[in-house]
Amino acid sequence: MKITSIICKLPDFKAKVYSNGSPGANPVFVTVEKPDRAQISTIKRALDELEEVEYLQNDLLYMKTLGANPPFQNGREAVDWIKKNKAKILYADFSNSNVHACLNYSENDGITILINSKYKNDCSYPDVLAISEAIFHECGHGKDMDNENSIQEELNCLSLNVLAHRFYQKKYKGIFDNSNSFLYTQGVSLYPKLFFDFFKTALKNRIADKYGYLRSGDSKHPATDLAEDIKRIYESATYI
Ligand SMILES: [Zn+2]
Repeated sequence: MKITSIICKLPDFKAKVYSNGSPGANPVFVTVEKPDRAQISTIKRALDELEEVEYLQNDLLYMKTLGANPPFQNGREAVDWIKKNKAKILYADFSNSNVHACLNYSENDGITILINSKYKNDCSYPDVLAISEAIFHECGHGKDMDNENSIQEELNCLSLNVLAHRFYQKKYKGIFDNSNSFLYTQGVSLYPKLFFDFFKTALKNRIADKYGYLRSGDSKHPATDLAEDIKRIYESATYI
């Protein structure tokens, strides 16, 4: 594959960057890499795991009550969506190393889900599950086929990886116990705690910090009270 630079839909900057700027002014630049056989295998394993994901019913109810609405009913729906839309899944070098994954949509190239190439050699069982969660999250962004984003859209997509993570924790007991890299502590293992275990203030502050510069909601993702709360926290913190 030709190496190319594209701009991601999902910039992931500290909120302060946007305190006097406009959303989307600081995109993440990525350089797509040609995956090798091992990486293709990791992605395939991740999709095989994702296909089996079913939400724990109490988790789903709790998530919806909180104000996050998963765009897919289970993992299989997302995998079917990937196949139907011929979405590509690749590794890429990101200008912002804190971004785990992102999604690019263009009318010409269609949908590309990109995983940060710093994870390209991560292929242990928990790594495969973590990558499947990242893919699930990005599928949620891709489903609306646009390049817009909002706090509510992030909440909805975060609900996907959180619900999948809790399913994996139940299915494979203890599987994430020794996984302490950035992908886990600032990603797949962090959000389940923020949604389910901690006071909601911690969840709101985290999302305000990362995504507070976005609109609270949009036409396809009307803001819930949770998204409005997060926007208020962001605005009061940055004096907009
Ligand atoms: Zn996202």
